[in-house]
Amino acid sequence: MAKRGVTVLSSELWKNALELFPGGVNSPVRAAVKPFPFYTKEGRGAFLITEDGRKLIDFVLGYGPLILGHSPPRVKEKVIEQIEKGWLYGTPSRAEVELARKITSHMHSIEKIRFVNSGTEATMNAIRLARGFTKREKIIKFDGNYHGAHDYVLASAGSAATEFSVPDSDGIPKDVLKTVIVCPYNQLECVEKHLKNEDVAAVIVEPIMGNMGVIPANQSFLEGLRELTRTYNTLLIFDEVITGFRVGLEGAQGYYTVYPDLTTLGKIIGGGFPIGAFGGKREIMENLTPSGKVFNAGTFNANPISMVAGIATIEELEKGKAYEIANKAVKEISEELDKAPLDHVVNSVKSMFQIFFGVKSVENADDARKANKEKYIEFQKALLDRGVFFPPSQFESVFTSSAHTEEVVNETLDKIRKVLSEMR
Ligand SMILES: *Cc1c(COP(=O)(O)O)cnc(C)c1O
Repeated sequence: MAKRGVTVLSSELWKNALELFPGGVNSPVRAAVKPFPFYTKEGRGAFLITEDGRKLIDFVLGYGPLILGHSPPRVKEKVIEQIEKGWLYGTPSRAEVELARKITSHMHSIEKIRFVNSGTEATMNAIRLARGFTKREKIIKFDGNYHGAHDYVLASAGSAATEFSVPDSDGIPKDVLKTVIVCPYNQLECVEKHLKNEDVAAVIVEPIMGNMGVIPANQSFLEGLRELTRTYNTLLIFDEVITGFRVGLEGAQGYYTVYPDLTTLGKIIGGGFPIGAFGGKREIMENLTPSGKVFNAGTFNANPISMVAGIATIEELEKGKAYEIANKAVKEISEELDKAPLDHVVNSVKSMFQIFFGVKSVENADDARKANKEKYIEFQKALLDRGVFFPPSQFESVFTSSAHTEEVVNETLDKIRKVLSEMR
């Protein structure tokens, strides 16, 4: 490594990183920026400043959490205030009560909540709770939905002939997968068949898919899931780790007016600091330790920094202006993309969108897989060369924030036009 004070470029940091980390990174998608990832030195508003001195318009936003952009003043102030008072107590603190009040006041299906440290922990614990509560073992998930990085959710649909789910990772015991059924998104037949024939503890679903690009659920699909799960006494879990407080204060459940038994949250509710949460009906949540027998614990659960950052973020969102700006940015950008002469479709909801080339509609994971991913990467690279950072994978969402103002959007539109005209 170069000495302190000497400029170290991304290329040099990357050389070190390749020696130190598997694949050079600490979360795989970060390595998808080619030929090597740029290293970020600073995040300000809608911009990332790289170690190489570039200023990029950021549409990745930490993969979702930063709905107010980078280091928004109110959140920063609250975090600094909290740091002055200490950052880990190992006891309850006022901030956890305040954040829980805020969340439950907006999301009425959540009567009680537990704070954890990541979306992964949230879905892992929500599934354990559903199993403990129903005394059943199986769960149903949907092809292409992402619920984090633990064993019970790293499964995709196998071939239709066998109907066995296949692991998304090595190292997952076969017996774990025997409890996980994978059905196609936006389709009820598979769900109904399995609910009828097997004892299923829970159906877990992203009400708007945000991890296969953006794929909104059809209204009738979510309504159907609600009805079917009621009929078969199975819990319905909405994974709102992305959509919670992104598509509105009531999340996707408010957007669709379909309410689950349990909800998982993360990302935005921590204001950019590590967080996860799961909550729902009182009589279900009471089964959690210490009031019940389903175990959950965590040294950093409800840590005060994430709590105050979350409160400050939601307070800002309650004013409405942030949503207005972020949603307008998506509207204008997707309208511009719609004009592209190439075959493509843009899927968007509120402040999240994605473009798929070479296909006319994308309603499930199979449709998304048929899109021209190489074309998307060509588009993404050309944008990055011009200073606009879109996610380096077809299967991530493009996000906007309240820092994506008129001026930033106009600059983006200008660059998109140039890139598209060269791509023809
Ligand atoms: C990001 C995400 C997760 C996992 O959250 P982490 O904090 O990365 O563990 C789970 N579910 C959904 C829908 C997500 O988008």
